[in-house]
Amino acid sequence: MMFNNNHEVRIQVRGVRKVYDTVAGGYVALDQVDFDAATGEFVAIVGRSGSGKSTLLNMISGIDRPTSGSVVVNGESIGDLTESKLARWRCRNLGLVFQFQQLLPTLTVAENVMLPMDFAKRGRGRDNRVRALELLDLVDVSDQSDKLPASLSGGQQQRAAIARALANDPPVIVADEPTGNLDSHTADETLETLRRLAGDGKTVVMVTHEHDVSRWVDRVVTMSDGRLFDAASLGALDPVNG
Ligand code: ADP
Ligand code: MG
Repeated sequence: MMFNNNHEVRIQVRGVRKVYDTVAGGYVALDQVDFDAATGEFVAIVGRSGSGKSTLLNMISGIDRPTSGSVVVNGESIGDLTESKLARWRCRNLGLVFQFQQLLPTLTVAENVMLPMDFAKRGRGRDNRVRALELLDLVDVSDQSDKLPASLSGGQQQRAAIARALANDPPVIVADEPTGNLDSHTADETLETLRRLAGDGKTVVMVTHEHDVSRWVDRVVTMSDGRLFDAASLGALDPVNG
């Protein structure tokens, strides 16, 4: 099903339940979750380990499917897509950033950024390299383009990974603890980069354990035992990340 692509709401999660089968029986990881994110909005999801944050991101990115409920991202009801359509949809619509980046060690930084372009059959080799260098410049690591990832610092690798996530100019960026193994200075740089991308109209949804994240994001929501709470109801909860 297609919706209007210019819609203000770029991510719409409605009544999503996720129940995992375990030896002990069904485990409810998400319990009737509703979540919206607008075009150009930077939203942080916080909450204790095991509260369901990554599960929610997996629903939004189509890495996993809800047990029930609906997920519409950039006009596409992704639960209705076959696996192969979903893979193609994801590579054009979504940039994924994780805590432990997996830049391919035998490719240069620029080649890593070009890889998703090849997968999307976007442009030609030469244009793709120009675009990769532009993206690396955007995150201030273009001087590292022709090095292997192992020779970059952690922060530089993380920024290169953000450039790779931007390869196909996706409208949505999903980041799961992107600053989790960075020192505070490089964490700030990463958050600043994501902030800038939201300013350019991308919708950024990020799971984080950073304190003071409200400095960077438009909105903070909290997961607790598979349920989502907005900032207005935060006072009723225990401190997060405890
Ligand atoms: P968070 O990212 O907030 O730390 P997760 O979304 O990864 O939490 O996990 C939420 C809950 O669901 C946890 O209790 C976790 O153990 C459980 N869980 C996650 N994935 C699976 C799975 N594939 N099978 C069974 N249980 C899972
Ligand atoms: Mg997680």
